[in-house]
Amino acid sequence: MNIKIGILGYGNIGRGVETALRDNPDMELAAVFTRRDPSQVKILSENVPVISVSEIEAWKDKIDVLLLCGGSATDLPQQTPFYAKMFNVVDTFDTHAKVPAHFAAVDRSAKENGKIAIISVGWDPGLFSLSRLYGNVILPDGKDYTFWGKGVSQGHSDAIRRIKGVKNAKQYTCPVESAMRAVRNGENPELTTREKHIRECFVVLEDGADAAYVEKQIKTMPNYFAGYHTVVHFISEEEFDRNHQGLAHGGFVFRSGNTGKEKEHKHIIEFSLKLDSNPEFTTHVMAAYARAAARMAREGQTGCKTVFDIPPAYLSEKSGEKLRSSML
Ligand code: NDP
Repeated sequence: MNIKIGILGYGNIGRGVETALRDNPDMELAAVFTRRDPSQVKILSENVPVISVSEIEAWKDKIDVLLLCGGSATDLPQQTPFYAKMFNVVDTFDTHAKVPAHFAAVDRSAKENGKIAIISVGWDPGLFSLSRLYGNVILPDGKDYTFWGKGVSQGHSDAIRRIKGVKNAKQYTCPVESAMRAVRNGENPELTTREKHIRECFVVLEDGADAAYVEKQIKTMPNYFAGYHTVVHFISEEEFDRNHQGLAHGGFVFRSGNTGKEKEHKHIIEFSLKLDSNPEFTTHVMAAYARAAARMAREGQTGCKTVFDIPPAYLSEKSGEKLRSSML
């Protein structure tokens, strides 16, 4: 029987889940839930209902895994602990510094209600977190480097859009090439956050908004911009629509380490992603973890998990035997 999926929140990630489900025939979309008037939310799929979130409880037994597609800044901290009371859930929570608190809140409600929740799924956090873990355990004597971009950070763009006076915004994260070269050469440079990336923001203001206030709010925003070299450009709506519609992204995770009696041998692990569409890729990762959530729920597991806790074989629809014969 197919895994029945619900989407909660229909933005870029919600839409991306629909495309991901088309590539995973063992899953099917049961319903899309929104806080908006459902008649105003047009989805890609035919014959799938769009339902007001106020009616979600009636779907408790009709959905195996609910994919939470709200923003990390303010939606998911509320939504994930709340909906983990009724459903097995997967979210993409990406405020790295707040993951431990989010985990604790979600774990409590999932355990109390016998549900499974997998949080912070995607590529960062997500696949990059796994790459860092593998790098650290394989090369304990070494250094980690993560570079993002060039690309749009949805989480950061979302955070800017929530500032009073902002009509629209895009944030591009750009790696500093010379810093990446030094890492690839095994120079093990000491790099501060500012030396690795530039955060470039393109912002459209509401009529009469105070540009100086908005710029200060952006540059001092904890966890997102404070501590980074942030450049803010205020642009017109026309320029925004013309030049800033893409959602490409990507990045690099390096582990640079040494082994040998005198630590004479250098090793560099490099994992990289070049993504044409950040939300479509992120939601393909979510779909794989939704499969794992459904399987863990069937096994009676409960509580909150991250990508660290999920055995890789649980991501695949193939049996252990098939995986061993086709992928080893
Ligand atoms: P969006 O801003 O597109 O959507 C967020 C929510 O806003 C939606 O769930 C939707 O809820 C509401 N919304 C969307 N469009 C509209 C609209 N036109 N009018 C009113 N409300 C709307 O965010 P994204 O989908 O781009 O990203 C969600 C989160 O995913 C980001 O905050 C980011 O943190 C995370 N992410 C994580 C990644 C990872 O690797 N871990 C990678 C990429 C993103 P509703 O339908 O209920 O109104």
